[in-house]
Amino acid sequence: MGKVISIISQKGGVGKTTTAVNLGASLAALKQNTLILGHDPQCGVGVSFGIDIKSNGTGLYNFYLGEIPLFAARKNTQMEKLHIIPCNVKSSEEELSLLRIVSGDIFKLRSSLRQLRHRYDYILIDCPPTLGTISTASLVASDSFIVPLQLDVFSLNTLGRVIKTAKRVKSNYNSALKIEGFLLTMVDPKLKLTKKILDETRKNLRNRVFKTIIPRHPSLAEVSQVRKPVIFIGVMSTGSRAYLQLAKEIINSNQ
Ligand code: ATP
Ligand code: MG
Repeated sequence: MGKVISIISQKGGVGKTTTAVNLGASLAALKQNTLILGHDPQCGVGVSFGIDIKSNGTGLYNFYLGEIPLFAARKNTQMEKLHIIPCNVKSSEEELSLLRIVSGDIFKLRSSLRQLRHRYDYILIDCPPTLGTISTASLVASDSFIVPLQLDVFSLNTLGRVIKTAKRVKSNYNSALKIEGFLLTMVDPKLKLTKKILDETRKNLRNRVFKTIIPRHPSLAEVSQVRKPVIFIGVMSTGSRAYLQLAKEIINSNQ
């Protein structure tokens, strides 16, 4: 039975999509059947795999409209063990309609993933930078969640709201929800203060911080431009190695 993990934070640009895409590709490279579901109407997952959402292909929006079952929205990738479901919302009207449908049935994704999850080892859900309806529905459908964090005070201050949202989902809809881990992303290895902040963050968040740290690296910044996960370009780059290490850490802790 596959594990469903949401990548969530209300802060924009912290590396949610980069993590969903590169962690997903790394899990697949480690022989795990993996599905990445783009639940953000900004369609970052589709873009990162070079999918043109303006074309007539189907995606998550058609599932929410009731036109197709969720499994029919899946797309193959270059990797045999990696599938994606892009969010193919094309306008602000469609985005509003998506939000209405999701809030009308917060369990819709959860019930459909139930029928699909036996085919996968991991299903990663990329959330938008809000803690509204879509992030709530993602947590309702998830076993656990990852919060990407940058090592700045502002990011750390936003954590309380993510935790509060997860607690609300846990008590109202999904009592089995757990935290998978806080993930330090875009860490600048040259920054002097980093080690001090890092130690403090680990202390404050106890053991919930992943041992793997994702460095700031140009190979990861290029993903949305080259439209491929970094591992498709080379397994030895700093970016590839960091996400492969994270994938191993997650596999080991779930054995
Ligand atoms: P949003 O909230 O807007 O959906 P996000 O949390 O999904 O944003 P990303 O889109 O993954 O964040 O990352 C924001 C930007 O930072 C992107 O341009 C991405 O390429 C870049 N980026 C992400 N991780 C790294 C990294 N480790 N090193 C360098 N650049 C990175
Ligand atoms: Mg994103």
